[in-house]
Amino acid sequence: MNPAPKPPIPIAVPCMGEEEWLALREPIETGWLTQGPKVAAFERAFGERHGVRFALASTSCTTALHLVLAALGIGPGDEVIVPAFTWVSTVNVVLLCGAVPVFADVDPHTFNIRPDEVERCLTSRTRAVIAVHLFGRCAEIDAIRAALPPDVHLVEDAACAAGASYRGRPAGGLGTAGVFSFHPRKSITTGEGGMVTTNDPVLAERVAMLRNHGASTPEEVRHTGPKPFLLPAFDVLGFNYRMTDLQGAVGLVQLGKLDRFVDERAAAAALYREALADLPWLRLPAEPEEGRHAWQAFVVSVNPETAPHSRNAMMELLQEQGIATRPGTHAVHMLGHYRDRFGLRPDDFPGARDCDRHSMAIPLHNRMTHDDYTHVIDTLHSL
Ligand SMILES: *Cc1c(COP(=O)(O)O)cnc(C)c1O
Repeated sequence: MNPAPKPPIPIAVPCMGEEEWLALREPIETGWLTQGPKVAAFERAFGERHGVRFALASTSCTTALHLVLAALGIGPGDEVIVPAFTWVSTVNVVLLCGAVPVFADVDPHTFNIRPDEVERCLTSRTRAVIAVHLFGRCAEIDAIRAALPPDVHLVEDAACAAGASYRGRPAGGLGTAGVFSFHPRKSITTGEGGMVTTNDPVLAERVAMLRNHGASTPEEVRHTGPKPFLLPAFDVLGFNYRMTDLQGAVGLVQLGKLDRFVDERAAAAALYREALADLPWLRLPAEPEEGRHAWQAFVVSVNPETAPHSRNAMMELLQEQGIATRPGTHAVHMLGHYRDRFGLRPDDFPGARDCDRHSMAIPLHNRMTHDDYTHVIDTLHSL
């Protein structure tokens, strides 16, 4: 009889256990399920860990970014500079605010937005730049900031960058505001979930209001207030982007594991970089000099001129060997909605185009064994 086939190695798996399970008990028993004490505790701890005065949870990183742009008053007539290579929602939220996204090309070595491209994209209508810390590596914040007039906001899309740092400062506190994701593909997860971080008290108050239908008083204050007939004032148009307390309870436990997770990921990334360095057709992501990479994903680039197979053929061969891979993310200007709406061509942003065609995330997560890493490394060598 043949031995049972090894289960495939997924690209990412959430790392949860007994503590998360137990943390759900209290909200379930007390019946406080919507945003309440657990979310508040998660926000406090997240803000402390990322060195910011305010952290505000929301339903996802996408809605967190929508809240930030709305709270900054970004709307019709405004332009927001975004990298051309990122998850689509970084750009979607700009359109959802009625503003115009202006694409800047990325550096294929770091996958991040190029400061000189940001400068090229500036106009008198530019209100903000969304710098994405793609795959957990911080964008070149100082160079980007230096290129911007003082009234243009720098917003960090730190979806992948919980626990990352740049020149000694944690991600999330490097600009006007930052946003994080707790989707299961990220290092810590609440199923779905997001967080806004900022040091600006006025912005924090506006985000809090907009996330709760535009209400002047948070739900948890209203429910315990002395006047049962009082409803809050609704003086601004808002959303319901509140995180549940079930997620807050899980997030608090996950946050306690963040630094161990990032350390383990960094060790795995170092192992990959050493063991794959002899493959001349594979470009490996570098460890940045200016800070801590969060290694949300380990994304390599396949050189189309020297590789034994195309990137896509390589991904199929790896799949046959039980190894999941994904393209890094997408060139947003090549996606149908953007291509058609703005008449964009792949060659308009060659850096993003090449990242889209040649990038490949290989498995790296906190449930992988040493044998799993060896299997990936050996299989890549056998191609
Ligand atoms: C994952 C991701 C998002 C979206 O996060 P959600 O929590 O799923 O909304 C946004 N931007 C980047 C760069 C991401 O990687």
